[in-house]
Amino acid sequence: TEASAPEPSIFTRIINGDIPADILYEDDDCICIRDIAPKAPTHLLIIPRQPIPRLADAGAADQALLGHLLLKVGDIARQVGVEEAFRVVINNGTGAGQTVFHLHLHLLAGKAFAENDL
Ligand code: 5GP
Repeated sequence: TEASAPEPSIFTRIINGDIPADILYEDDDCICIRDIAPKAPTHLLIIPRQPIPRLADAGAADQALLGHLLLKVGDIARQVGVEEAFRVVINNGTGAGQTVFHLHLHLLAGKAFAENDL
């Protein structure tokens, strides 16, 4: 029997240029795009090129990459002028609302966030 290649995620297809996206930032390790269905006036996705399915699937070998993604959040927030007030969200697993199984950070800004409104 023939082993089939795993389906590339929608984000891998965007990274490969097969699907268009509004790319705000990119480097060797990640890209940042606008979410197609924004839940806040600024709703960006920071996505590693490496398709780790979920945060819980990351391991010690991914330590530098995870740090890189978090550091880029601040840079990108400054780039779009929201560095004084933003929220970062990672959904892990279907039960937490994850729909794309390719790790990504949501950067949300431009709306009022209540203290306990996670
Ligand atoms: P999750 O629920 O997995 O944490 O978030 C996935 C996010 O990806 C959702 O906010 C959804 O709107 C966004 N998304 C899904 N497909 C596309 C797409 O093709 N392009 C862009 N820019 N965003 C997408």
